[in-house]
Amino acid sequence: MMKSWSDLDYQPTVSRIITNSLERNRIAHAYLLDGMKGTGKKEVSYLFAKSLLCRERRGVDPCQSCSNCKRIDSRNHPDVHVLEPDGNSIKKQQIQFLQEEFTKTGLESKRKIYIIEHADKMTTNAANSLLKFLEEPNQETFAFLLTENVHQMLNTIISRCQPLSFSALTSLRLVDKLVEEGIPMPLARTASHLTNSLEEAVELCRDDWFALARSLVIKLYEALFGRQQQALLFIQEKWMPHFQERKQLEIGLDLMLFIYKDMLYAQLERQEQLVFVDEKEQIEKFALQTTQQRVTRHLSYILQSKSRLASNVNPHLLMEQLALNLQEGY
Ligand SMILES: [Zn+2]
Repeated sequence: MMKSWSDLDYQPTVSRIITNSLERNRIAHAYLLDGMKGTGKKEVSYLFAKSLLCRERRGVDPCQSCSNCKRIDSRNHPDVHVLEPDGNSIKKQQIQFLQEEFTKTGLESKRKIYIIEHADKMTTNAANSLLKFLEEPNQETFAFLLTENVHQMLNTIISRCQPLSFSALTSLRLVDKLVEEGIPMPLARTASHLTNSLEEAVELCRDDWFALARSLVIKLYEALFGRQQQALLFIQEKWMPHFQERKQLEIGLDLMLFIYKDMLYAQLERQEQLVFVDEKEQIEKFALQTTQQRVTRHLSYILQSKSRLASNVNPHLLMEQLALNLQEGY
């Protein structure tokens, strides 16, 4: 959880805009937080709410221990309203309910805050209701609109909000965050190559399926350097039962791609880029037994398999064919 604005160093622009406005006490009435899933929008809106309502604020940072901070953390502060899509959309009634709430004075202080998640999912009627609201801002009302699809929002709404654009996490930053969450480094590095989203990466790393998938990839990779029959047997007995769904096999092939790329990195002496850091020695050993040209060709076999997977091929045959290609004799 973000404790202070300095924790937002991975979104420097957003952090600067917010801390400046808190320092000068010039807060906009509406902010539009846009960016991919997992880039920190929700955490930022809650931290902002705390900075605005905290009873013991220290500089720009909330104290995290007063009753306001605590109730915002536990999502039951009476003056902080969170709106999410009801089904597929945010409906006019939801916005109207919010407006009624806001005509009452803040229950505890004068300030009231609303956070609208997936703001792009507002129906046109809902958006128009909100617009009226944004046009006549109450002195002490603050809105945070969160979206992953800013292009689907009405320009009239966008133009009334101060934009806060969240950039995708760099893969290094994502690995740091995952390790902070207690995820082992090798797993974190692997996940960071599959997604830019912290949320998705955490979910992946906490799923036992993923850790096992990763170790099966290492085993298949090793088997491919051994006897042909052994690799085919491994695919039949261990690989196929684990990668049953197409989506899963796609991840399996992505991981295969990473481990073959690692061989290329080892050949180029760029070990700092390895994804399978825990297999460094083995990868270096195999890298010596082959050529860059050959690894590059193998990478293209894996890519071809990935695109064939998109069409309706038999996954087992696809894997067998890939194994034969990767075991070519020269
Ligand atoms: Zn506080």
